[in-house]
Amino acid sequence: MKITLLGTSGGIPITGRAQSGILVETSENKILLDCGMGIPLRSAERGVMAEDIDIVCITHEHLDHIQDLPSLTKASWLRRDAANYKIITPPGLEEKLKKFWRSVDEYERSDLEFEALEPGEELEETASIEAFQTEHTEISQGYKLSIDGKSVVYTGDTEPSRIVTEVSKNVDLLIHELSFLERKEGHTNPQDFISKFSDVKVDRFIMTHFYPEIAERAEEITDKIEKDIGTPTLPADDLQTVYI
Ligand SMILES: [Zn+2]
Ligand SMILES: [Zn+2]
Repeated sequence: MKITLLGTSGGIPITGRAQSGILVETSENKILLDCGMGIPLRSAERGVMAEDIDIVCITHEHLDHIQDLPSLTKASWLRRDAANYKIITPPGLEEKLKKFWRSVDEYERSDLEFEALEPGEELEETASIEAFQTEHTEISQGYKLSIDGKSVVYTGDTEPSRIVTEVSKNVDLLIHELSFLERKEGHTNPQDFISKFSDVKVDRFIMTHFYPEIAERAEEITDKIEKDIGTPTLPADDLQTVYI
């Protein structure tokens, strides 16, 4: 799997960082995880155009994770008169998304297939896509993608939780949010992450979804996480690519 961090900030714009979005490329599919502000642009900068995307997985309803989904789809039908992604969402998000969409553009011109995935459910595409519950909103969830014995977990927004540590055991890469320095409901801070993950075996962490206070010190903070847990830990940067 080729994994490109397209956007790495939370809800506050930061120079050089688009909002949430990760591109996972397998030999057969291009899968986008979240589509916040700036993601279609970042994807194009990596040579992956809107119409090249096959599947979009959305973690939850907040704007920094869905805002550019209508833009992505519009770009796709402008280029080839159709947009035909499969969009995977938590149960209950489809109607909300459609309402948002219709308020800003012509949703009806796209030909989209929605599929709601319950936490714990798994979908077999060319990669297996498994949803798991996160501690953020009532319906928020993360995704674990596995193919050929390799796995990546993406949390979206969450507090560090037992469900996330369970699903992340022995994976090749965990992309976990790290929003704030201090504890805030529904989000992760460095201390809580370290205490929750100190005994969880993961090959590598990438921390993302930064607010300015974390972005300014991202390297220093991820160095501390790496030292305390003993697992290689990188701060996410826009357009950074890793392979697993
Ligand atoms: Zn967010
Ligand atoms: Zn959120």
